Amino acid sequence: MRDSSEKKVDTVEKKTDFPPSTPGGIKELEKCPDTSPLLVGPLRIEFSAPVTLDLVREESPSLEEGGRYKPKDCVALQKVAIIIPFRNREEHLKYWLYYLHPILQRQQLDYGVYIIAQDGEEVFNRAKLLNIGYVEALKEYDYDCFVFSDVDLIPMDDRNTYKCFSQPRHLSVSMDKFGFRLPYIQYFGGVSSMSKEQFLKINGFPNNYWGWGGEDDDIYNRLSSKGMTISRPNGQIGRCRMIRHDRDKKNEPNPQRFDRIAHTRETMSRDGINSLTYEVTRVEKDKLFTKITVDVGKPT
Ligand code: BGC
Repeated sequence: MRDSSEKKVDTVEKKTDFPPSTPGGIKELEKCPDTSPLLVGPLRIEFSAPVTLDLVREESPSLEEGGRYKPKDCVALQKVAIIIPFRNREEHLKYWLYYLHPILQRQQLDYGVYIIAQDGEEVFNRAKLLNIGYVEALKEYDYDCFVFSDVDLIPMDDRNTYKCFSQPRHLSVSMDKFGFRLPYIQYFGGVSSMSKEQFLKINGFPNNYWGWGGEDDDIYNRLSSKGMTISRPNGQIGRCRMIRHDRDKKNEPNPQRFDRIAHTRETMSRDGINSLTYEVTRVEKDKLFTKITVDVGKPT
């Protein structure tokens, strides 16, 4: 038997700044395992049944204000901020929240969901919204990992863990829209994750891609120019569904994208997290998410 009264006293003394202990003392939580035992594998994902935010709230009793969660019975291995660039996609957001909250909880993550909504009617700027999400999430909590997700992408397997890896991770590798394969090997769009260190190494994301396309390729160029590679789940675990939709207004294909992508290496040190400017116009705390509305300016 492993017990010494001396050791017991030691443990009790260390805990003096914690709430009063239950009889027998508080047991210190252990780290969660590398692979969560709660995962179930492949999931049925469909978008025909209507979902309401109230339904999602009812089904998420363990969430805390702002869309925050941490496991009760172990210490999560990573603190993950999930950043979603957003404008006028309420219908998609409901499905995202409905499917993702239970998945993220089964993945035993300490996480928060941040919806970064572009204010006004100017051309959409996805990468700048992602940069803003990184900065704003860090003001709230000491996150060490950032998952950047489009609002219309839902994983079809909960083994595709929304966390960070030793290299930047591409998670949406096998999308129904592309016939469940990568459209091209450098593709880094949809859902990706990066640790704080990885993100800072590439000076964050570009701020000057206005409209659809190219910003994810720019991010790929940044990673590869800093000697990083992309980590990916296999094509089975990485399957995901995209909610079908028409092209958004004010998010037309950006004709400058080809030229910009060709110059990432020259521009990345001066365009990124070090040159980010914006204004927060509204912060909304819901049980299911923190929504931060921002003025990102307009193309110069
Ligand atoms: C665009 C990317 C986009 C990809 C897949 C590329 O041509 O530059 O931004 O993610 O196509 O649609």
